[in-house]
Amino acid sequence: MARTVLVTGGNRGIGLAIANAFAKQGDRVAVTHRGSEVPEHLFGVRCDITDSAAVDAAFAAVEAELGPVEVLVANAGVTADTLLMRMSDEQFTGVVDTNLTGAFRCAKRAATKMLRARWGRMIFISSVVGLYGSAGQVNYAASKAGLVGVARSITRELGGRNITANVVAPGFIDTDMTAELPEQRRAEYLKAIPAARFAAPDEVAGVVTWLASDAAGYISGAVIPVDGGLGMGH
Ligand code: NDP
Repeated sequence: MARTVLVTGGNRGIGLAIANAFAKQGDRVAVTHRGSEVPEHLFGVRCDITDSAAVDAAFAAVEAELGPVEVLVANAGVTADTLLMRMSDEQFTGVVDTNLTGAFRCAKRAATKMLRARWGRMIFISSVVGLYGSAGQVNYAASKAGLVGVARSITRELGGRNITANVVAPGFIDTDMTAELPEQRRAEYLKAIPAARFAAPDEVAGVVTWLASDAAGYISGAVIPVDGGLGMGH
């Protein structure tokens, strides 16, 4: 059955691969963007997820065009890497405001309609770094670890209404975000990844569409790594 899916940050990178995977299986797919182009087969809504009013307006626009959001993929995220001793309050709170609070804003807005429908799927895109830790990413790791608490608490609150909430924790995926990594850091990570390679965004997308499928209806509160073994299941 075709569903209405919203992918935040679905205009590029992992989010776009996820949006394309849902569209390919016949779902109605909306993506948020912040002013960029969106492929024609996707319904684009402008939204900065640090702004609750913008999130509300984006959901309203999707509802008007495609119907209530049945599958939410909270994917939008940023980094602002630096060592703890150099990290400003703004660098910490800014990353948390997008990656964690932004996901909360979207989940809260999505939940109203999912509760009414007594069906919903929420998938939070975290990172291996959330549970593994990463020097220079105190802000990012905190935000990504926080998503685990969000998904598990939503599972406890809404699980009885046929709403699942899961976390996907990618390792190193070839996107703009990892292209920014210094060469030495990339080489170090490649050495640590048992699969000995970075992944393509499609390899994350497959897990996300599966989590939204009926086959995964009894999975909730889980953290599913897509990291070539880097985090050894965490
Ligand atoms: P990109 O940097 O390629 O894309 C990030 C996306 O997030 C863009 O669509 C961007 O929109 C959007 N975004 C950022 N800030 C906001 C905001 N305030 N409001 C709305 N949208 C926003 O990242 P990736 O595709 O690599 O990453 C996608 C997700 O996967 C992120 O959450 C990231 O943390 C996570 N991840 C990525 C890994 C990787 O190796 N690449 C590994 C583990 C996790 P815009 O185009 O407007 O900037």
